Amino acid sequence: MFRLIGRTYGIFGMKTSVQRIVIVGGGTAGWLSACGLAAKLPGLAITLVEAPNIPTIGVGEGTWPTMRESLATIGIAESEFLRECDAAFKQGSRFDGWTDGAVDDSYLHPFTAPLPGDMRDMLAAWQAGDQSTPFSAAMTPQHAVCAHNLAPRQRTMPDYAGALNYGYHLDAGKFAALLARHATGRLGVTRIAAEVTGVKVDHDGDIAALHLRDHPTLAGDLFIDCSGQAALLIGGSCGAGWIDRSDISFNDRALAVQVPVAPGSPVASQTIGTAHEAGWLWDIGLPTRRGIGCVYSSRFLSNDRAAQILADYVAAKVPGTDPALLRPRQLTFATGHRDRFWVGNCLAVGLSAGFIEPLEASAIVLIELSIKTLTENFPRSRAAMTIHAARFNALFRYRWDNIVEFLKLHYVLSRREEPYWQAQRSPATIPDRLAENLALWRDQPPSAWDFPRVDEMFPAASQQFVLYGMGFPLPVGGPPPTATAIARVRDVAGKARALAAALPANRDYFAAMAAQRSAQKDHAVP
Ligand SMILES: Cc1cc2nc3c(=O)[nH]c(=O)nc-3n(C[C@H](O)[C@H](O)[C@H](O)COP(=O)(O)OP(=O)(O)OC[C@H]3O[C@@H](n4cnc5c(N)ncnc54)[C@H](O)[C@@H]3O)c2cc1C
Repeated sequence: MFRLIGRTYGIFGMKTSVQRIVIVGGGTAGWLSACGLAAKLPGLAITLVEAPNIPTIGVGEGTWPTMRESLATIGIAESEFLRECDAAFKQGSRFDGWTDGAVDDSYLHPFTAPLPGDMRDMLAAWQAGDQSTPFSAAMTPQHAVCAHNLAPRQRTMPDYAGALNYGYHLDAGKFAALLARHATGRLGVTRIAAEVTGVKVDHDGDIAALHLRDHPTLAGDLFIDCSGQAALLIGGSCGAGWIDRSDISFNDRALAVQVPVAPGSPVASQTIGTAHEAGWLWDIGLPTRRGIGCVYSSRFLSNDRAAQILADYVAAKVPGTDPALLRPRQLTFATGHRDRFWVGNCLAVGLSAGFIEPLEASAIVLIELSIKTLTENFPRSRAAMTIHAARFNALFRYRWDNIVEFLKLHYVLSRREEPYWQAQRSPATIPDRLAENLALWRDQPPSAWDFPRVDEMFPAASQQFVLYGMGFPLPVGGPPPTATAIARVRDVAGKARALAAALPANRDYFAAMAAQRSAQKDHAVP
């Protein structure tokens, strides 16, 4: 064996082992990748390089339940995570005003799956009961738990265990900082604060090394591009193309603010997404503040009008806040994704791979899924990398297509009349597979036959919550509900009452956590 510019070569000059991992970017994607690789594959030499003068995107406050497994895998205790990231529990997303904009127009997409059993039977049992019960309330006690701002777990439960399925709301800046401390302090990751200024490409097209400003060249075997919207490597020397999805997904801008909350005020259990004339607003409750943002399409709404919509929302929903004092941050994003995510010895993770829009918070979970796929299929040799790359590209292309279709479903089912919403329903903007599924779902409910992978991001359950939350017609012609289905639906209300009695309010959970911590500090030996 001999070494050429620091890379391991076998006989005949063939690259052999993959040992040195170089990650570009220190946002959520970069530090999650560093932690995931270091925790799952000890022995690799992992270096993360981040430009001190290029900020992270600074948003991305809603996660999926997958984050519990990710945090447990990398070895961060849940209490530490909640405390350090000012985090709260997220049990789903509530959609206000999406169907027709009426005052009582609201539905929930919870994280806990609907009742088990044949969905046609469950739908019949739901219809046979109280007609005013929303679909999500008939299918899971999580609806009632969210309505009362309750936590999904008791404090005495083991880390990451819950009575109901849950993810988190968090402060994105604090999250990246916690991951950075964990990676460098506990997992042996090396951090370099420097800007990447160029790429040294090998004779075979692989990246051999990165040129850094005021630092020596950094060589590696596998490069992970977490440089955010810059897509420095994957969109640069790797030459991956861009697939624009703005013909389907119109939103391309957001205005974001952080609003302090009154002490003792309730902390919501779900992200609240409120539709407006040309997009929607997110509202994410943390113990100390609310992150609120207006997402919109620049084709249909001016920045000034978006700022007004945001100010009106804050004035209505966070009493006591002076909207004139808000300094919204303007964010612009291209809607689409790469045509390949892994090219040669470079893998794109995070915004460098693409972004559709914040609806249903599908971005951080894609980062987690990318890391899981990589660590469980890690190429120990360069020869295997090409096979892994091809499989990764096929799998993630499938995932991106599914994200585009599932997000579009929220718009297609709306009956709102503003030009933006009418345009969303134009057949030319609806992907073929979604149009086909919508035709099929008039005949039978969404099922695993439509979403056959075991690790679907949006399985039939997610589609059902959106469809029947938005009043999609139920399949006709089925038999009457079975006694089992009727009993199961009736049982949900009882479970909801029992959970409401047993679970603490989110606010009380975090207050007790803080009180315990300050008591521990008081008793600590100086
Ligand atoms: C409006 C909005 C709302 C969102 N909400 C959610 C949400 O609720 N849930 C969710 O899952 N996702 C959400 N996302 C997406 C989420 O913010 C991102 O997926 C996540 O933060 C990961 O970002 P990143 O790490 O890829 O990029 P960034 O945070 O942008 O990090 C990029 C890093 O690359 C570094 N860098 C760039 N150029 C160079 C260079 N030349 N040399 C060295 N380093 C460089 C920067 O310094 C930085 O450290 C949202 C996105 C937007 C736009």
